[in-house]
Parts: sequence; structure tokens; C-alpha cells
Amino acid sequence: NSNSFEIIFDSKSENESFARVVVAAFCTRLDPTLEEISDIKTAVSEAVTNCIVHGYEGREGKISLKCELNDNELTIEVHDDGVGIDDIERAMEPMYTSKPQLERSGMGFSFMEAFMDELHVKSGKHSGTTVMMKK
Ligand code: ATP
Ligand code: MG
Repeated sequence: NSNSFEIIFDSKSENESFARVVVAAFCTRLDPTLEEISDIKTAVSEAVTNCIVHGYEGREGKISLKCELNDNELTIEVHDDGVGIDDIERAMEPMYTSKPQLERSGMGFSFMEAFMDELHVKSGKHSGTTVMMKK
């Protein structure tokens, strides 16, 4: 029993809520609890915001969002073709941010980790970033 979709949208902040709502709608048929839905929405928001703010640094670009349901397992992949991450381990440390001047708190990856069951980040300088999460 599986189902999937993929969408590509512009790196604009108004698409954060769009992405969140699409994923929530996609998993309603699993009959998730409100808490599960809210966790998934938060994780998607954080990942998409990172593409916009860090990946493209406010420039225009495309973000891809892939979701797959396998039985009761949801896999989400968020990808940008932006600047990429040099040191993934450091980037994932709680409270690390490369943009303290923008009043970022460096908690995005920590939230994704806390609210989802699995988190994997694939990136490299100039090769874009892919965040894969499972719940
Ligand atoms: P917050 O999410 O709390 O607003 P933040 O975005 O800086 O702050 P994280 O989401 O944990 O914190 O990300 C940590 C760091 O990882 C970022 O500061 C940035 O340097 C890097 N990073 C995260 N996502 C991307 C991305 N898609 N492309 C390039 N760099 C990224
Ligand atoms: Mg962030």
C-alpha cells in the first residue's frame, strides 16, 4: 500500500505554508493525531524555510518536495539547488546558525530531529541540499 507525489515550487516565503498544508492534506488518510500533523508541518516548514533563507539566500530558485507513504510510514524529501552546506555535522548542532544577524536561532534541524523519527541531510558546497525525514 503506497502513494506518492512530487511538487516543485518557487523559493518564496509564501510557499512555506503552501508546502506545510500540502503535506498535511496528503497524510490525512492515515488518520494522524493532531500532534502528529503539527509535528510534520513544523518539520516541513523548517526544511522549506532553510531552502529559501540559506539555500538560495533570498534569490529565486526552485524547491522540490517529495512525499511517499508506505503503509504507515511517511517519507518526506525537501531539496534545493542552492549554495549547499560545507560542514553538515556543525550545521546540525543545536543553536548553530550561519546567520545570527538575521536573528536565526539555529534550531531548525533540532526541531526536525525532535519532531520526526529520522532525519538525513545530503549536501556539499555548491551542490544543493536534500533533507530526508521519516515518520
Ligand atoms: P532557525 O532555523 O532556528 O531559524 P537556522 O536556519 O540558522 O535557524 P537550522 O535550520 O538548524 O538553523 O540550520 C543550521 C544551519 O545550516 C543554517 O544556519 C545554515 O548555515 C545551514 N543550512 C540549513 N539548511 C540549509 C540549506 N538548505 N542550504 C544551505 N545551508 C543550509
Ligand atoms: Mg532553519
